[in-house]
Order: sequence, then structure tokens, then C-alpha cells
Amino acid sequence: MPPVTALPSGATACANHPRREAIGICVRCRTQVCGECTTKVDGINYCVSCLAALAGPKREKREVAKTSSPLVAAFWLVVGTSALTLATWAMLELGAIW
Ligand SMILES: [Zn+2]
Ligand SMILES: [Zn+2]
Repeated sequence: MPPVTALPSGATACANHPRREAIGICVRCRTQVCGECTTKVDGINYCVSCLAALAGPKREKREVAKTSSPLVAAFWLVVGTSALTLATWAMLELGAIW
């Protein structure tokens, strides 16, 4: 059980900020934390240390998803096909004229 400090107003203080009012309780370690020290994940409050422990191994996931090579490949395929069609059409047109 973490130490709970009471503010002069009677409210419970944040575990990391003794002078700040706690607005949430970490569901993992039951520490009372202020708005700055709490992070909501799927509507559930976590303190800083518990969030770090939870997010640790899965942190890189967001960065990796950004490079979508299939989309880039599809784009160049379309560009290449269009250029080829245009070139063929131009050659046929020129051939017809000459
Ligand atoms: Zn916690
Ligand atoms: Zn705090």
C-alpha cells in the first residue's frame, strides 16, 4: 500500500506531487495520482511507472507501420503502365501520320 498524503483541503495528494490533488487511482498499483501522472489506456488509469512497464516491449509498433511499401509499389505500377500506354499510343499516332 503506497503512502497516502492528505492535502490541507482534505483531498488526497498525488503520490509524485505532494502538493497536487490526486484525480485518479492507478488500477495496477492503486497509487493515487494527479492528471499529469496518470494516463488513460482504454478508459483505465495507469500511473507513470505502471504505464512504462506495460508499454515497454510493444513500444516500437507504431513506427514500423508507417512504411507501406505495397502502396508505393502500386503507385509506381500505375505510373509505369500509364507511361507505357501513352508511349504506345504516341508511337501509333506518329506511325499513322507518317
Ligand atoms: Zn501504477
Ligand atoms: Zn502528479
